[in-house]
Amino acid sequence: MAEIKAGFVGLGAMGWAMAGHLKRVGVLAGVANRSIVKAQAFAQEYGVLGASDPGELARHCNVIALCVSADADVLDVTRAIAAHAQPGTIVIDHSTVSSKTAVEAQKIMRTAGGDFLDAPVSGGVEGAKNGKLSVMVGGDEATLARVKPMLGAYGARVTRMGGIGAGQNTKAVNQTVIAGIMQGIGEGLALAEALGLDPAVLLPTLSGGAAQSWYLDKRGASAMRNEFDVGFKLALMHKDLGIARDLAASAGVGHEVLAKSLADYAELMAQGHGDEDVSAVIRLKRTK
Ligand code: NAP
Repeated sequence: MAEIKAGFVGLGAMGWAMAGHLKRVGVLAGVANRSIVKAQAFAQEYGVLGASDPGELARHCNVIALCVSADADVLDVTRAIAAHAQPGTIVIDHSTVSSKTAVEAQKIMRTAGGDFLDAPVSGGVEGAKNGKLSVMVGGDEATLARVKPMLGAYGARVTRMGGIGAGQNTKAVNQTVIAGIMQGIGEGLALAEALGLDPAVLLPTLSGGAAQSWYLDKRGASAMRNEFDVGFKLALMHKDLGIARDLAASAGVGHEVLAKSLADYAELMAQGHGDEDVSAVIRLKRTK
């Protein structure tokens, strides 16, 4: 990895920990973030460059990872990097966005003499902190080979799913599955509350059988305590499910779970709960 000078853009719930892992393995040169104070705080804590914007980062780095919010952010940041990139610069996008955005961003970086990989992640904030994410990559095989050792800093599993956009398409499937799991956990745990079952006995019993899941293990107890401050903001999940619903509709396959989850998360956002974890869907199940 000696030739890699890495940068990281987007120091949120996921990105802060992921950038920390790049520092740990010795490749991180600098960071940037929309709110500059976060980049400055990270720079101070880890002793790297706190760039004023992604363009400045591009002048110091040859591989730049992103974990920003949505499609427009990925395109804005990629354009800013491309405007200042050295030839051969690779952008790796860990945000969850559409495969169309990945195709567009690859064009931008290739025009600037570099390349782009879509590389969304799964494993939650815990996976980012522990360096145990599953990374789903789309793009050129040789480009991935150059950066794969670096992705191992936070990826327990790094899988090339196909050409550009295949990582994001995989992530859309991942989010569809999670949406169904969250609907089931929300309804199941709301029923358990109504029946007066003791969470301390219930949850290990469910997790010891076929109902076990990552979300039940990590968010079941906190949801029953009405705590939704950790994890994955439901407003971001709403954005992801819109992408998955559009893909499912164009493919002509069933998307009833996606439609129900989109409606539920929209209702929670309208009630002011958009920054809460996705497990807050239980709020709606308790009141129906
Ligand atoms: P987050 O906590 O809201 O963090 C997003 C970060 O990106 C913030 O620090 C934000 O800056 C920065 N940012 C946004 N737009 C930017 C721009 N245009 N230029 C520079 N920085 C920008 O979100 P997160 O939970 O880390 O999620 C980030 C992405 O990963 C999303 O696409 C999400 O869907 C995906 N994801 C999240 C999880 C999870 O469990 N949280 C898991 C897998 C994937 P500010 O400080 O200015 O807000």
